[in-house]
Amino acid sequence: MAEEYKAPLPNPTPDSKPFWEGARRHELRLQRCRTCSEAYFYPRNVCPGCLSTDVEWFTASGRGTLHTFSIVHRGLKVTPLPMPYVLAVVELEEGPRMMTNLVGVPADPEHVRCDMPVVLEWADVTPEATLPRFRPA
Ligand SMILES: [Zn+2]
Repeated sequence: MAEEYKAPLPNPTPDSKPFWEGARRHELRLQRCRTCSEAYFYPRNVCPGCLSTDVEWFTASGRGTLHTFSIVHRGLKVTPLPMPYVLAVVELEEGPRMMTNLVGVPADPEHVRCDMPVVLEWADVTPEATLPRFRPA
């Protein structure tokens, strides 16, 4: 950690606690429905596809593609990354989409393209909180 992280931190709920505990171990935990096999995110104990409550946790690959993005030039006093930064929606290999940040590339449309392959990179922002971010593969 180069400097103290001051942006908002996760506030785990009973449903999301396994996701954030996995993040601390650098494991991207998603849920999957045992009835229809759909993987989904955000964490919840009801399948959004078929409403079954027979769901399980699994560890995702951390690979995906950039679905869409925005380059943030102005924002609140505290931001998750120095500005400008890339706010991204990544489509994971397993199917679900996740809002995150794209790092390891200039925050410039010349360098960021929809559908570009990306890989997970963990950011241990505090001793208690780890955030999933992605970089070009
Ligand atoms: Zn289902």
